[in-house]
Amino acid sequence: MTTTAPSLPIYLDYAATTPVDARVAEVMQRYLTVDQLFANPASRSHMLGWQAEQAVEQARRQVADAINADPREIVWTSGATEADNLALTGFMRANRARGLHLVTSTIEHKAVVDTAKALESEGFEVTWLTPGPDGRITPEQLRGALRDDTALVSLMAVNNELGSINDIEALARVAHEFGAAFHTDAAQAVGRIALDVVAQQVDLMSLSAHKAYGPKGVGALFVKRHPDIRVEALIHGGGHERGMRSGTLPTHQIAGMGEAFALMQREGGTDQAAIEGLYKRFVEGLATLDGAVLNSFADHAVPNIVNVAFKGVDGEALLMALRDLAISTGSACNSASVEPSYVLLGIGVERELAHSSLRFSFGRFTRDTEIDHALALIRHAVQGLRAPTR
Ligand SMILES: *Cc1c(COP(=O)(O)O)cnc(C)c1O
Repeated sequence: MTTTAPSLPIYLDYAATTPVDARVAEVMQRYLTVDQLFANPASRSHMLGWQAEQAVEQARRQVADAINADPREIVWTSGATEADNLALTGFMRANRARGLHLVTSTIEHKAVVDTAKALESEGFEVTWLTPGPDGRITPEQLRGALRDDTALVSLMAVNNELGSINDIEALARVAHEFGAAFHTDAAQAVGRIALDVVAQQVDLMSLSAHKAYGPKGVGALFVKRHPDIRVEALIHGGGHERGMRSGTLPTHQIAGMGEAFALMQREGGTDQAAIEGLYKRFVEGLATLDGAVLNSFADHAVPNIVNVAFKGVDGEALLMALRDLAISTGSACNSASVEPSYVLLGIGVERELAHSSLRFSFGRFTRDTEIDHALALIRHAVQGLRAPTR
């Protein structure tokens, strides 16, 4: 145990959401009250509206810069879930003439999986690729699934349960060989891996603020302009966002996302370097524990997510025993169910081992002392649960 014990619970669930950086919160507070820039950014008839619009456009540039896009290619949404819905449904409906076939994978975030299933019931056809044990889809695998009528390929940049990184540039290239467009869910990727929609030839990219130290409830879809990628709106109204997504823009949320992405662009590399150290410390600690098996691998994965199976220990029971750690059995969306993670099953982890698995994820504010304390708690809990009781 360390002498300076960290305050409890220790937050190790950064992949579920990150806290808002204080510098981001400070920016957000400028757009709310009567003496501030609270006006509707779509109000063209007065200066207060223009000033709010300026804040929105500055944020649009900050988000665009983080992925090397043109600001005009950024469409604000309520988060990555909506961006995924707009990318898949909006693109497939707008491009029926191109074909009705969509290719994705079994371990995508539910926002993609469930949208693809909804498209199947709408008459579109989906091919579900199964990743290897490393959680990645290979370009060769994708090539085998592509057809003349494939309109869209959707494969995530970084998996939210495993941290596994897809080679989106290679995958996009293969999709384009077949004339299909390429979408990637990059919610977990911002600030963790290099994102460049030009170099990586991405046509549609989903983004979320709250995985990158911004606020919950705001995100964006990158929609490439040259060549022009068309998506049909899912939300109709005042024709905001060039007709792709209506609704009054939440200036404070958007300004927060802009600041968060600007910080990620400046500091993401430094964050990740520090997190590499945390990863090493944590994994070395786990290695001294009997029966702790990594479900995620350092090669081709981000260091901020560690998915571990504890052989012979029930994950739910372990989670209960680890009340002083804020962690999860997988994605936050599934933590209410006792079904093992579909992502772990999807990469071929045995059911029993999947049931014994926990996801730990680190971030900007995680400290060495928290890792050490977490390891001590895990060791104690695992030994307690394994101890013969009869
Ligand atoms: C969190 C997450 C989402 C959902 O984003 P929201 O902004 O919460 O809607 C989608 N995809 C991935 C990979 C995520 O990690």
